[in-house]
Amino acid sequence: MRTFPCRCGHGIEIVAPSRNAGYLIMDSDVDLSIADREAAVRSFLQAAQQGRRREWLTDFYGESVPQSRFDAKDEADVIEDILSRQDSWTRLVFRCPECGRMYVERAPKTGEYRCYGEE
Ligand SMILES: [Zn+2]
Repeated sequence: MRTFPCRCGHGIEIVAPSRNAGYLIMDSDVDLSIADREAAVRSFLQAAQQGRRREWLTDFYGESVPQSRFDAKDEADVIEDILSRQDSWTRLVFRCPECGRMYVERAPKTGEYRCYGEE
């Protein structure tokens, strides 16, 4: 089980789907994030139409993912993965169910968090 360590000593379970983990995109970055995801969906659909589906999936998921897993995914599965991935504008957020503290990633993909607690 993957957990995030809270200052209170509790390990916040963060395996998806988690009630204690989420994403934050600042308003100024929402349009950029949506445009990026839209471009990725278009790129995937175009690659599939042109017979380059497997090549596109390898680029997207990485070469370490077995090809058999690609075959199990339909177009809706891939689009869901595109829409739900962490992009350059998405910050991770964790909430401790024990003490209520929130941890917000300082900047996307940094893995560094700022802690916020109830006053
Ligand atoms: Zn806590």
